[in-house]
Amino acid sequence: MAFNNTDLAAFKDVWVFCEQREGKLMPTDFELISEGRRLADELGVDLCGLLLGDNVEGIAKELGGYGADKVYVCDHPLLKTYTTDAYAKVICDVIEDLKPEAFLIGATNIGRDLGPRCAARLHTGLCADCTHLDVDMGIYKDFLREASTLPEEKIEGMGVAKVLGQDHDVSRDLKMTRPAFGGHLMASIICPRFRPTMATVRPGVMKKAPFDQAKADACEIVKPAFSLSEADMETEVVEVVKAAKKLVDLIGADFIVSVGRGISKDVEGGIKLAEELAAELGGVVGGSRAVIDSGWLSADHQVGQTGKTVHPKVYVALGISGAIQHKAGMQDSECIIAVNKNDTAPIFEIADYGICGDLFKVTPMLTEAIRAAKAAK
Ligand SMILES: Cc1cc2nc3c(=O)[nH]c(=O)nc-3n(C[C@H](O)[C@H](O)[C@H](O)COP(=O)(O)OP(=O)(O)OC[C@H]3O[C@@H](n4cnc5c(N)ncnc54)[C@H](O)[C@@H]3O)c2cc1C
Repeated sequence: MAFNNTDLAAFKDVWVFCEQREGKLMPTDFELISEGRRLADELGVDLCGLLLGDNVEGIAKELGGYGADKVYVCDHPLLKTYTTDAYAKVICDVIEDLKPEAFLIGATNIGRDLGPRCAARLHTGLCADCTHLDVDMGIYKDFLREASTLPEEKIEGMGVAKVLGQDHDVSRDLKMTRPAFGGHLMASIICPRFRPTMATVRPGVMKKAPFDQAKADACEIVKPAFSLSEADMETEVVEVVKAAKKLVDLIGADFIVSVGRGISKDVEGGIKLAEELAAELGGVVGGSRAVIDSGWLSADHQVGQTGKTVHPKVYVALGISGAIQHKAGMQDSECIIAVNKNDTAPIFEIADYGICGDLFKVTPMLTEAIRAAKAAK
């Protein structure tokens, strides 16, 4: 296969892979379309969704309501259910034909599978699990001033990188930022030599823009040419069996009550207290990795760098110390309430309300206070 993707000027537009399951768009699509809009504006290009499936044209216009100028729809019976080989084949064909400059994919289970396969085939670079994206150097520098400990002279001097011994102007490159070394460092990565620049983006991190019906109506639907047959596929979906248990929806929750290793003296009792408080708030239960690794809650409950990134209205941390990897997933919550018996626990540094005490005593009091407040209304 010949790679013709070093002619950077031949590539234009920002694309977002829009994942659908059973004909329904996923929440990450709206987050990435909203973020992609900002990046496309910074580059002065169009923002395009890429939607694959069987009979999915009808759901495409909604993406326009969050900022897509155009949605490329690839409809085919063999794209009904996700398979790596069919999706990668169609996406790579369409990308080679239409040449987007940047291609964003949600770091969902499907996105984490699809992204690297496409990047390898297209012979381009992919930065996985990004939590921040920028193009404009001024905006990127402001981000560094706020989020990093880099000295001002270092930030001010940025703009040119050495690539294969040559000076390379990074002003049009996508700056892809992600946690590295267990969350102790943030790394900003560029893909200077090949296009499209590819990034998978953590679900729940980018903010969804408000929906605009006029923009949805104006969104152009394009059906690009592609070919796909069973001969292109090594896999066949025989049956889709859904997990019997419903997974907890942490990302969409407004109220989360999370438990940490602090429940260890009575695990069942601690989880029950959290469930009661969550039920009173109309929320769900989450957990720190210590709780998931101990098998006290299933993996879908984990909040943090290797779990979910959440920003609920209220996040209650019960017996959680506040390790950097936990904070990475919840520090943008609107209001954080922490209960910990150790008054020097790092969670108190980011808590809006800190209660120093035993969670087994404090939690029932919180639940009761909310119950009483609701009854008084
Ligand atoms: C690469 C990497 C990725 C990671 N990803 C994640 C992640 O996604 N999410 C995550 O959470 N962690 C993650 N971790 C682990 C993280 O570093 C911490 O080990 C973990 O968050 C600790 O969980 P904890 O706060 O529940 O436990 P601990 O740190 O043991 O804290 C327990 C807390 O409970 C308090 N306590 C004890 N008893 C009571 C009581 N009766 N009442 C009130 N308070 C009490 C203690 O004072 C203590 O502060 C990761 C680590 C690495 C290296």
